[in-house]
Amino acid sequence: MTALLEARGVVKRFGGLTAVDGVDISVGAGEMVGLIGPNGSGKTTLFDCLSRVLDIDGGLIEFDGTDIGRHRPHDVARLGMSRTFQLIRVYRDLSVAENMHLSIQWGSLGVPQLFARTDAAARRRADELLDFLLLGRLRHERAGNLSGGQRRLLEIGMSLMSEPRLVLLDEATSGVNPTLAADIADRLRAVNSERQVAFLLVEHNVQFVADLCERVVVLDQGAVLAEGTPGEVTQDPAVIEAYFGDPGDDTAGDDRVGNSPAGAGDGTAP
Ligand code: ADP
Ligand code: MG
Repeated sequence: MTALLEARGVVKRFGGLTAVDGVDISVGAGEMVGLIGPNGSGKTTLFDCLSRVLDIDGGLIEFDGTDIGRHRPHDVARLGMSRTFQLIRVYRDLSVAENMHLSIQWGSLGVPQLFARTDAAARRRADELLDFLLLGRLRHERAGNLSGGQRRLLEIGMSLMSEPRLVLLDEATSGVNPTLAADIADRLRAVNSERQVAFLLVEHNVQFVADLCERVVVLDQGAVLAEGTPGEVTQDPAVIEAYFGDPGDDTAGDDRVGNSPAGAGDGTAP
């Protein structure tokens, strides 16, 4: 059986820097896979390659058996893969519901259609998803008034509007308090089990990933350093070295592995 997403030898260079250096990664239908690694290890760049936001310099990317290596992002979205961004992208001056309505059009249509009327089916889907994501009572709220965690939930809702089979989620818990992080984990689990949506989760919160994923891939300096269960990778000496190895590197401060204080409270399910 081939995976839903299958990438082999993906390479991405920025000038002289090889940000993604021959990565193999796969996600099966309905699977939840974690992607962790120190800051600057290439996680977001790999997402940009997989979702075709960035052109790749080498390798092969297949989604559901289709070579998407030269597809444009909206074609990938139409095939059933959507993503969120590390920096939240919602329209702060629009309501929660309006953001949901725009997202589906962003995925499938051009700018002129952005201002066309949203059809009834899309409105129903938006309302249903907002209820499911605990945002129902906020549907008329200005998105700029939401908390960080609520905005992350809205982004997840927006990514689900196109009925994807795979969502790439970049840092779903960054800037989110532990209670809302637990809500997000709970909702992702529900989306996965009730709607068979597969996820590839980029996270600095290793405990969050460990709670949700049976398989975790660890990136370091653009390459896969380890792959296995959360228990296996967090015990792996090479992974511990990558996170904590260089005492002069304070950029890895948030990216704790194991039973660190930073991870312990953050991703715990309710
Ligand atoms: P992560 O998401 O794991 O923190 P990134 O994918 O953001 O890592 O970055 C990987 C490396 O690529 C870093 O060294 C970063 O500085 C570099 N990088 C990312 N985006 C660009 C870009 N647009 N131009 C040049 N270098 C970039
Ligand atoms: Mg990143």
